[in-house]
Amino acid sequence: MPALTSLSGPSGIQELMDDLGSAMTEHPDMRMLGGGQPAAIPEVQALWREQMTKLLGSGEAFDRMLLNYDPPGGNPLFREAFAAFLRRECGWDVTRENIAVMPSSQSAMFTLFNLLGGPGRILFPLIPDYIGYANQALTPGMFTSRLPVIENRGPHEIKYRIDFEKLAPPDDLAGIVLSCPTNPTGNVITSEEFVQLRNLAQKRSVPLILDCAYGFPFPNVVYTGFEPRWEPGLIFSISMSKIGLPGVRNAMVVADPAIIKALSNTNAIMALSNGNVGQTLMMPLLQDDTLLRVSREVVRPFYQQRSQHAVSILEDALGERTGWALHSREGAFFLWLWLKDLKIPAKELYQRLKARKVLVIPGHYFAFGLDEAWPHADQCLRITFSQKPEIVEEGLRILAEEAIAASA
Ligand code: PLP
Repeated sequence: MPALTSLSGPSGIQELMDDLGSAMTEHPDMRMLGGGQPAAIPEVQALWREQMTKLLGSGEAFDRMLLNYDPPGGNPLFREAFAAFLRRECGWDVTRENIAVMPSSQSAMFTLFNLLGGPGRILFPLIPDYIGYANQALTPGMFTSRLPVIENRGPHEIKYRIDFEKLAPPDDLAGIVLSCPTNPTGNVITSEEFVQLRNLAQKRSVPLILDCAYGFPFPNVVYTGFEPRWEPGLIFSISMSKIGLPGVRNAMVVADPAIIKALSNTNAIMALSNGNVGQTLMMPLLQDDTLLRVSREVVRPFYQQRSQHAVSILEDALGERTGWALHSREGAFFLWLWLKDLKIPAKELYQRLKARKVLVIPGHYFAFGLDEAWPHADQCLRITFSQKPEIVEEGLRILAEEAIAASA
């Protein structure tokens, strides 16, 4: 299958999802500090259970949901309600012509990259970025990425910043992309950086694509207060997954009508239409500020507390026994750990940890689209802290033992 080797070969995201899927099903003894699985938050689970119960009670709406194919860009009533929600709650100037529903943010990004890029290149201005993009380019060489400036913020804290001086956007630039908050680091760009990227995109007449899977408007796991505002020329992807619905596989893209039409047309060819369970469950919650409120009052504090718990375990377990630093925690569900004295590549540490039933993700997978090797990434791990605190604690203590042994 030569034309499809970029899709059918092994990839980091496939390894991650295989590990995650088997830890969640066949191997529950695995300490899953690996995937982007949202936590089981009782209030959020109760919210979706309540929506499902109401739906089952209504009979007709439930039957309609299961029986009907929606148009390929999403249920028109849902698109209308989502646009009204964004106008009312976020102050964005959008109509339903600016909204496409897609079968996940993962597939939305895949479609966007390959619609926009190909002859032109997609720029990732701040590596490391999401492992799930790494193998999505159907045209080899379509991704071009830039390394960050590493700012030391204390003995155990770093922050990556966009290196605007070395951004050098290629002549054949077709789009600029980043996840915000960034998976894997939890970095959140500042409003100034956002404006700089937007101005660059405008100047070159290409879209700036922001993957808001963890960000605004929901689940809004952002600690810096950054709330980007959509405007023409921007493309935002907003997933249903991290607000507790990864099982429904839906995301909404907010973009100019021509992009929305292109996504919807592609979706017709690739998937006919979207699953409509997520749209049906979410629809009633778009009438008020429930999603924003739950994000702000329940989801964000939940992850902030879990993040603090994970850091205190690591501080205790690593102490000053080896050199280490965490990326500043500005959002999302991850710790990005730099093991400064690590003597083996992080992918080998990953194997040693997996043998001890701890799953993490080695850093090199997040460093794609580069012309040069980046040894720093081989000393980094992404750690998820969304599982039960006792599992996270066990996993982190084993991780610290192995990291210290591999750094001596
Ligand atoms: N974008 C980012 C940055 C993610 O971390 C993830 C999942 O972990 C996704 C997109 C995938 O979202 P979805 O479940 O909607 O495909």
